[in-house]
Amino acid sequence: MSAPLSPVPIPTHIGLHAGPALLSGITDGPSLEAHRERYGPLPPLELDDLVDLASRAGLRGRGGAGFPFATKLAAAARGRRRELVVNLSEGEPASAKDSALALSRPHLVLDGAVATARALGAREVHVVLPGDRPAPARQMLRALGERDRREDRVRLRPLTAEPRFVAGQARAVVELMSGRPNLPVTSWAPEAVAGFRGRPTLISNAETWAQVGQLLLAGERAYVRRGTPGEPGTTLLTHSRHGVAPEVWEVDHGTPVGDVLPPLTPETPVLVGGFHGAWTTWSTLARTGVSRLAMAAEGLPLGAGVIHVPAPGGCPLGFTSAVVDYLAGQSAGRCGPCLNGLPALAEAVRGAWQGRDTTARVDQLAGLLVRRGACAHPDGTVRLVRSVFTALPAEVDAHRRGSCSAATTGAGAAS
Ligand code: SF4
Repeated sequence: MSAPLSPVPIPTHIGLHAGPALLSGITDGPSLEAHRERYGPLPPLELDDLVDLASRAGLRGRGGAGFPFATKLAAAARGRRRELVVNLSEGEPASAKDSALALSRPHLVLDGAVATARALGAREVHVVLPGDRPAPARQMLRALGERDRREDRVRLRPLTAEPRFVAGQARAVVELMSGRPNLPVTSWAPEAVAGFRGRPTLISNAETWAQVGQLLLAGERAYVRRGTPGEPGTTLLTHSRHGVAPEVWEVDHGTPVGDVLPPLTPETPVLVGGFHGAWTTWSTLARTGVSRLAMAAEGLPLGAGVIHVPAPGGCPLGFTSAVVDYLAGQSAGRCGPCLNGLPALAEAVRGAWQGRDTTARVDQLAGLLVRRGACAHPDGTVRLVRSVFTALPAEVDAHRRGSCSAATTGAGAAS
């Protein structure tokens, strides 16, 4: 039996909005010539200076975990024969921000990685391309072809990820680099300490490298002028909607979501943080700042910056059920929580959608799954499921009574 499809298709088109930093001047095109004209050459930088700069600027990874970049860089710097990876695999179907950067700002991404590789003394930058997003992959290959190896002083090596939700997980990337299936495996040390061939391997997604490039090329003062004191700079948001091409926005940290995205009715359910994210309502989200800390205060994960709005009249419970079916089919099936737990969780959520009271079963499974996998896939899936029960209790109750908010509009689509 084939694995369930994602209820949000991999985007073939992306709506791109010009932004204040990473996405400024995107009308100039993605060429190296336009990039150098705008920013000039990469400045030389010592490793200690880069660690200090990233630390002062409060730069954090933009892949979802929000780990401090300076800490990861310093950890990689402790070992020998360091490796560096630009991770463009973007396994989350509802996300389009790394693809947007590949299409519009590939050299800002590459400059961030090349400058760091030089500072680390790495000889190679591995560029992991998305296996199911041909246009961004092609544009990034074009950009790699424009680079001058003598100028960069590092080799840029492309490789292609498998089209799978967990393919971008850091250990899955190390497996891909090692010529093995692109799936997560158990590891006892962070990749920055022992990754590819046991060497320190600094893996970051495209937005993180573009942020490093922006910090180096625009300068610290310009970088920290934006955002909040606790979270300087900007971040990318993907506005994902049913049946519409996703749109990517760049906003200053702290900007209320309601100032960026078009308004919805207050009770509209919205999924924040993508398929491993959490449900809330538009009234809560609209007043919440785009920032890891502000979102966390509302119990929401900013994650990789995805905000998904279901179809008008669509059922959030039905959509969640379709997402969990998809996520259960995307695991490597190597750990118990994924092999047995996620299909059982998918069945419990489907039961709730079909009107059965499965709350106790969901709670039981959640307790068995969290922190039991080799990667965070089960934890993220549980977070999504729990949130539909806590943030949208009226919807769950309506289903128990044989009704559905979608039924009131006559749509009823699980989207
Ligand atoms: S938890 Fe799931 S996705 Fe993660 S390594 Fe184990 S089987 Fe694979």
